[in-house]
Amino acid sequence: MPAVKKGDLVLLSGASGFLAVHVAKELVAQGLKVRGTVRSKAKGDYVKKVVGDNFDYVIVEDIGTDNAFDKAVEGVQGVAHTASPFHFNAGGEKGDPDEILIKPAVNGTTNILKAAKSHGKDVKRVVITSSFAAVVNNRQAGHKFTEDEWNQDSLDQYEKEGKDAPGNCTYRVSKTLAEKAAWQFEKDEKPSFDLATINPPLIWGPTIHQCPDPKGLNTSIAQLYSVLKGEKTEEEISKMPPGFLVDVRNVAQAHVQALLREDAGDKRFNVSLVGFTFSDAVEAINARDDPAIKKAFPKMPTGIKGDKSRKGPELDATRSKQVLGLQYLDFETVVHDTAASLAKRETEEWSK
Ligand code: NAP
Repeated sequence: MPAVKKGDLVLLSGASGFLAVHVAKELVAQGLKVRGTVRSKAKGDYVKKVVGDNFDYVIVEDIGTDNAFDKAVEGVQGVAHTASPFHFNAGGEKGDPDEILIKPAVNGTTNILKAAKSHGKDVKRVVITSSFAAVVNNRQAGHKFTEDEWNQDSLDQYEKEGKDAPGNCTYRVSKTLAEKAAWQFEKDEKPSFDLATINPPLIWGPTIHQCPDPKGLNTSIAQLYSVLKGEKTEEEISKMPPGFLVDVRNVAQAHVQALLREDAGDKRFNVSLVGFTFSDAVEAINARDDPAIKKAFPKMPTGIKGDKSRKGPELDATRSKQVLGLQYLDFETVVHDTAASLAKRETEEWSK
């Protein structure tokens, strides 16, 4: 099945998000045109200013509403579906995770697929932003996560703990069920397009989306911002759980290559640079010794040493290199560029 080609028009859902603005820029850089969906005119205008002439937008206020994408998908050849709630504010007194996280994620995904089937006669490929959250299980050193694995642990935990399960569990459930729903849709409905999913772990990198207040920072970047601000002690930082990291520019490339490359169809893609801890990240930022970062964040911890020799499970991203041709940015660059972009906003936007 032919994939999307240069000059084609791509529908990008959630275009105002941290990741999606990079996807929009990369689509345009690769010769494609973009129709973004955003929740307000102000958000759309901001993205247009960042991305330029080959970006336009339509308003979709709630991806979970029936038929939300029916008009948006008309006349496009490809779809990149990034929109999904990404936060951990659900469960217990915070509210019903089903309503806050799971239904919007699952219904948003099935709505865009239904729209592509019924109103997008030219759609060749749909790329869905899934997550490592849909892959990960509780595993020890020696285990290598591949695209064959599905998160079962979070589904089991949610079944046991119900609406009191912690927000990070129910977020993982939302991503797992949304991705499963996408593959099930393809199996049941046999649309004339095919699918690919991108499954990133924690994403950092420069922030270029609209964020007038640091309190509104997207979840993955907000954690580093609070470390840079000195809001966590060195002991708290050393206890932050290890994870896997990837740069937003590489994740954006993955989305675009998954649209363009014919052999990316019907595949999941882990996209990951490295296993890391926040201590490793703080050490890397200090190693670069960037005066702009030091000036913006005078309370940033300086005495922390990371331990990259520490052993944990691994995340296999070989397929993303072989099929999508990804070349990952190095750890120090990813961490430095994230901190530098936050330092710029801190100095020029947020402290005014
Ligand atoms: P983000 O900045 O919060 O972006 C999420 C986008 O989805 C925003 O544009 C948001 O719009 C939109 N959205 C959420 N719920 C919506 C709804 N009900 N109706 C309409 N739009 C809705 O977060 P991000 O980090 O860029 O995440 C983008 C995607 O990547 C998500 O699918 C997330 O699960 C996935 N992901 C992220 C990471 C990471 O570390 N950042 C890792 C793995 C996967 P508003 O801002 O207007 O609400």
